[in-house]
Amino acid sequence: MAELKALCMKCRDANNKPTMQLMKNVKVEEKNGRYFAKGQCSACGGNQFKFMSKADAEAMK
Ligand SMILES: [Zn+2]
Repeated sequence: MAELKALCMKCRDANNKPTMQLMKNVKVEEKNGRYFAKGQCSACGGNQFKFMSKADAEAMK
């Protein structure tokens, strides 16, 4: 499975901004024609969520 990065709301940088972290246990789901990935942050284990294009979702399969 391809690697996916998403913003983690818990892993913040020195400016208190969310940072991009590698997502693990990724599950791609589709709802009403919208594709999104759910998983956990590889750094802190917090939940992550990311909307994807259909092409990106297909690439994760
Ligand atoms: Zn995190």
